[in-house]
Amino acid sequence: MDTRLRAAAEAARGFMPPDEGLALHDAAVDAARRVAGAPFLEIGAYCGKSAIYLGAAALAADRVLFSLDHHRGSEENQAGWEWHEPDLVDPETGVMDTLPLFRRTIFEAGLESTVVAVVGDSPTVGAIWTTQLAFLFIDGGHGAEPAHRDYDLWSAHVASGGLLAIHDVFPDPADGGRPPYEIYCRAIESGRFSQRSATGSLRVLVRS
Ligand code: SAH
Ligand code: MG
Repeated sequence: MDTRLRAAAEAARGFMPPDEGLALHDAAVDAARRVAGAPFLEIGAYCGKSAIYLGAAALAADRVLFSLDHHRGSEENQAGWEWHEPDLVDPETGVMDTLPLFRRTIFEAGLESTVVAVVGDSPTVGAIWTTQLAFLFIDGGHGAEPAHRDYDLWSAHVASGGLLAIHDVFPDPADGGRPPYEIYCRAIESGRFSQRSATGSLRVLVRS
């Protein structure tokens, strides 16, 4: 991975350990080699950390990364929950807003021509999305409903030979919530995906 972008990704705020970020980057590079022309999409932009890992791969392969988020935070990011960061609440509206920080992060990384923010609710966008994807990264809401809905709506858009990555997959319930693991199992059991790699809680699957 480009050294400057790797440093920017590691410095960015968010939830992506360096080894998993690199594995994510490498998977996206691989996806671009496997599927000609098609873009990448991630669900769960937050402050732009994973978008730099994926954006670096997109830039090198002359692709676009669509980075989808309503920027209002997941359930687990809200006040009173485990993953809340109080300075991300807009004092004017009283609700979370990660879009300003996301935009600054992508601007400073020099990725504005490569990373396209899609600001909206995943099911709203997913219901009308039709473009085939070389790479799909699911890292949005981790509750049962949002995770299964993201899998239902978006996994069909992965092109044949393309890759699906899922974050926060914890086979042992003691390590974290179940829904990302459940959709990982659904993907394998569907027969449409097989596992390519595992790094920490990141799973990379290939579409047959
Ligand atoms: N990939 C990020 C972390 C994502 S955190 C990183 O590298 O740091 C999960 C994100 O999913 C949050 O920003 C939240 O706003 C978003 N999210 C949760 N539910 C969503 C939904 N229904 N539609 C769009 N975004 C959603
Ligand atoms: Mg995550």
